[in-house]
Amino acid sequence: METRFVTIDPHHIEEEKLQAAADLIVSGELVAFPTETVYGLGADALCPKAAQKIYAAKGRPSDNPLIVHIGKLSDLERLTDEVSQQARQLAKAFWPGPFTMIVKKKAEVPYETTGGMDTVAVRMPNHPIALGLIKKSGCMLAAPSANLSGKPSPTEASHVFFDLAGRIPMILDGGMVGIGIESTILDLTEEPPMILRPGYITKEMIEDVLGYEVSEDATLMGEDSSKKPKAPGMKYRHYAPKAELVLVEGEPEDVVEKINALTTEKQAFGKRVGVIAGEETKEGYRADVVISIGARTDEDAIARHLYKLLREMDEQDVDVIYSESFASLRIGQAIMNRLLKAAGHQVMHIKKEKDEGSNERI
Ligand code: AMP
Ligand code: MG
Repeated sequence: METRFVTIDPHHIEEEKLQAAADLIVSGELVAFPTETVYGLGADALCPKAAQKIYAAKGRPSDNPLIVHIGKLSDLERLTDEVSQQARQLAKAFWPGPFTMIVKKKAEVPYETTGGMDTVAVRMPNHPIALGLIKKSGCMLAAPSANLSGKPSPTEASHVFFDLAGRIPMILDGGMVGIGIESTILDLTEEPPMILRPGYITKEMIEDVLGYEVSEDATLMGEDSSKKPKAPGMKYRHYAPKAELVLVEGEPEDVVEKINALTTEKQAFGKRVGVIAGEETKEGYRADVVISIGARTDEDAIARHLYKLLREMDEQDVDVIYSESFASLRIGQAIMNRLLKAAGHQVMHIKKEKDEGSNERI
């Protein structure tokens, strides 16, 4: 299949380009489009055959449900009979935006879209092209991230092309995304509501709106490996670069010293080593490839660069990647959740007393 790569300026959307994309959606086809979080691979959410095509194009396991993207609040009522007071409060506070709610699904929502579940994930994206495509097609869009299953989510249209060229009919290129990590997912069918995936909208922000504490899936940061995550997608090894990735935590100078020692060891065996560093510490490393993820003072930039950087490491053909930890930031939980998954939970904690670094699987 030929993939049309269509560049659209999000601030001056040419109607005929959007119309061509909308026509594909209406005819049950797939279109990749930008949202503010990552690029999505969209299909008519109420059309079972169209939703199935998403799984085929991505190589996605069929039990991993899709998020339905809506354009207006009244669309929520087309997906669920139970729009609770809390759902309305959260929608008012965070939509359009990087926030997904899980609610009970209506019979009309096909199991192909929900991965066989009786619940449905819903989000209103905050991006003119995403909203334009929903409006023009008149369809709500089932859309997971537009990457091959297991690859880092795409934050630029070129990433989508790299993964899905020849597998989908159209990619809308609206430039680099603004946020760079996927939406926060809150399950409203749990009491109290439960965060299934951390994101730009934090637990504190949700609690401020609801006025009470919400819970978190115990598996988010690898705390309880005996449990299965509630969001089926979180159980898969996601966001994975080709090379082995190890996170190194500790005081900045200890981390630099440890990573340099590990680098020397690996290089002695002829391995190519990559390092993911903050802007402040990047000069201290001796690895083959050192990529700065951004200044620690600019956590939005860190989130925005994360997936692009994991893809760059793949291109550099490194054998092992050491990454600093970014846990202390406001959206640090969301960033670390992705990095931990990419690392298969390999974390090395450097203790203050030297020589006590331990290699732990958490
Ligand atoms: P993606 O769109 O690629 O970011 O993936 C969507 C994420 O939402 C996956 O981790 C899914 O498992 C999760 N998800 C979607 N629908 C549901 C649902 N009904 N219940 C729980 N998790 C869901
Ligand atoms: Mg995804």
